[in-house]
Amino acid sequence: MNTAAELDTSLPFYHAQREQWTGLRRDLHANPELRFEETRTADVVARELESLGYAPVRGLGGTGVVASLPGSDPSRGIVLRADLDALPIHEANSFAHASCRAGVMHACGHDGHTVMLLGAAEILKALPTLPGSVHFVFQPGEEGGAGARKMIDDGLFERFPTEAVFGMHNWPGLPAGEFGLRTGPIMASGSRFRIVVTGRGAHAAQPQLGLDPIPLACSIVLQCQTIAARHKDPVDPGVISVCMVHAGDTDNVIPESAELRGTIRTLSSALQQQLQRDIRTMCEGLAAAYGARVQVEYFQYYPATVNTPAETALCETVMRETFGDERVHANVPPNMTSEDFGFMLEERPGAYVLIGNAKPGGTSTSLHQPTYDFNDDILPVGVRYWVELAQSYFKR
Ligand SMILES: [Zn+2]
Ligand SMILES: [Zn+2]
Repeated sequence: MNTAAELDTSLPFYHAQREQWTGLRRDLHANPELRFEETRTADVVARELESLGYAPVRGLGGTGVVASLPGSDPSRGIVLRADLDALPIHEANSFAHASCRAGVMHACGHDGHTVMLLGAAEILKALPTLPGSVHFVFQPGEEGGAGARKMIDDGLFERFPTEAVFGMHNWPGLPAGEFGLRTGPIMASGSRFRIVVTGRGAHAAQPQLGLDPIPLACSIVLQCQTIAARHKDPVDPGVISVCMVHAGDTDNVIPESAELRGTIRTLSSALQQQLQRDIRTMCEGLAAAYGARVQVEYFQYYPATVNTPAETALCETVMRETFGDERVHANVPPNMTSEDFGFMLEERPGAYVLIGNAKPGGTSTSLHQPTYDFNDDILPVGVRYWVELAQSYFKR
């Protein structure tokens, strides 16, 4: 287990900035903002970038901020990406930098991501010019807002020529300062569904006069589990969860309709499409058998986050050479959580990696919990990863 002192001695070059980065991180933590409302956060980021000599561009994807460090060949460039937004969670911590906004909290560590990327902008600015440009992308709305997609739609890759994209997320399941990565999918695609079955309402004691939608809805819930278990390759992960069931308002009336809502998570777009197709076919078949009507709607919010082989190998080499083999966990299992960096990876090659956030003793709280906090010990580690990655990328 790494202690803060061990991290410091392994990173003397970064030690001097550590206090300043911690202060900035705690300021962001105390002032969290929800997706697409990150105006103060974007102000802080832009102000810091300007003080370093950058000319940040604002407004991409709403509240996004981008700053470029020009390389000697302006046609070449890479994106290093952090996310800005907090969550609608009421913080349960009582330390001095706890959220001062009721019901809003940096419970996913995006405050730490933002500061690590600012740190990289600071260090790289002081180093010799690279062969290509480094675009520092501070993205809004990661938590369910598809801010990455909005920045791409606002011309991110046209305004900032990009040949590869890189992202990083803190991970409480890994010890502080260690890294996890894998080629291929590292996080799942996510889509939501809404199924409405419509029959005919009736008196509870006269079902023959109506068409009860509830048995049909129950059959659909059960068949969803059969699709997940029997229609797909068992080694290709996929989850179908029906999370909301609603029908009727009282105990003596057969309702007119029933509504089901839930989520599909897969590690590939092909399986996501297959499961969507199979659910629709099953719903329509069951509804026909019952003589009812059914409406099936999907809302795909995030694609799978799929790392490309060459860029992942580069990240792994950088981690091993910079931090030592014992801190690198190659081929970590994928997670069924979702992440909108997948949109960037659909457009450009790249890699999304995990940086360990667990405090010594492994007591860190999970992401999205009211007692979570980013571990400031890893700020210099994450900064150094970004700096070494940018330099190594253009040496290839
Ligand atoms: Zn999150
Ligand atoms: Zn997050």
